[in-house]
Amino acid sequence: MAVIRSVEAHWLQAHIPEDRQHLSDFGRMDTFNSGLVIVRTDDGGVGYGEGKVHVGSAGNYRTFCAYVHHELRPLLLGEDPDRVSGLWQKMYCGARAGHARTHGRTFPTLGRRGVPLSAISAVDIALWDLKGRQAGLPVYDLLGGKCRDRILAYASGGWCGVGEIGDEGREFVRLGYRALKIRAGLQDPTVAISAQRVRELRAAVGPDVQLMIDAHGTLSVADAKRLCRKVEDCDVAWFEEPTAIDHPAAMAEVRSATDIPIAAGESEQTRFAFRDLLLHNAIDVAQPDLGICGGLSEARQIASLASAFQVQVAPHLWGGAVLFAAGLHFAAATPCVTIAEHCHGFNPMLHDMVFETFPLKDGCLSIPGGPGLGVTVREDFIAEHSRTTEDEL
Ligand SMILES: [Mg+2]
Repeated sequence: MAVIRSVEAHWLQAHIPEDRQHLSDFGRMDTFNSGLVIVRTDDGGVGYGEGKVHVGSAGNYRTFCAYVHHELRPLLLGEDPDRVSGLWQKMYCGARAGHARTHGRTFPTLGRRGVPLSAISAVDIALWDLKGRQAGLPVYDLLGGKCRDRILAYASGGWCGVGEIGDEGREFVRLGYRALKIRAGLQDPTVAISAQRVRELRAAVGPDVQLMIDAHGTLSVADAKRLCRKVEDCDVAWFEEPTAIDHPAAMAEVRSATDIPIAAGESEQTRFAFRDLLLHNAIDVAQPDLGICGGLSEARQIASLASAFQVQVAPHLWGGAVLFAAGLHFAAATPCVTIAEHCHGFNPMLHDMVFETFPLKDGCLSIPGGPGLGVTVREDFIAEHSRTTEDEL
């Protein structure tokens, strides 16, 4: 039996050239950051995972790396990497993992949300990748096999203002997309301007393209309702995070006031947080991010829960290629997933971290084949972009 020999975490950072930076309510995006975890076994096996703790350029990943090295690594070294579910429980419950095993409930560690869960997410994805590589099987086969060969992708961008957003939309359609998402909310000076941008986009792309808007949780209930009313004839496929995620009842109030579907969940962690969104009747679309919610293992539990509420799942995919590939495997093997996000912010992590590419065909992305996540990480990319020092490893 192979055992885990090493667990490494890297803070990857790529600079964004000035002409490709964008502004949002998170500020100016001048770097793209991600947390990469590499798990190796004593028989030469390797698996890669990715976790996220911040949006775009905000913050850094030193705490993420330290958590992996000082809290998770001691729990993992010498363990059988095939026991992914058991290792998830061990990382989540720490000293009380044994109680969790014998009683069938969770006994989480004190700091059970935030950076710890993002770190667990990355390790979990790496363990699935490792397991697939060792077995010679794609991860989707480990998850029960594919229920689709490709997944509809939506172009995720839309930071342009009035007078430009229509052209941005037309460009996405020219690239082959049949679904687009734009930003709204506090990045616009007024609700009226957000509505104007949505109307301009709809007029530009015509009636056959799915169109979504994302307010990053920045609007008040009143303004969110107002925006819904102003774009009610624009056939909006979903309104993402109209209000702050911290108050699901407020989001439910927006949902009950409109027939535009409400989507949320990209920053939520574990099935327990999604349970609360679902019990509040706050969402039509659940958007777990595999690098935040608890990894592939937890995303599957979230999807089961969502499916019991007849809620569709659309994974939030705003990271590097490893996280993106994990999302595609999840989408392939999970029946209630209907669409996947395709990041259009400048993101070298998505395009240069691995040798493979993710070509768009007929508006869809195919699922990477090959063992594990089906991607080959470029060690030179990691060496070039890692901000983790030898001392920190
Ligand atoms: Mg979003």
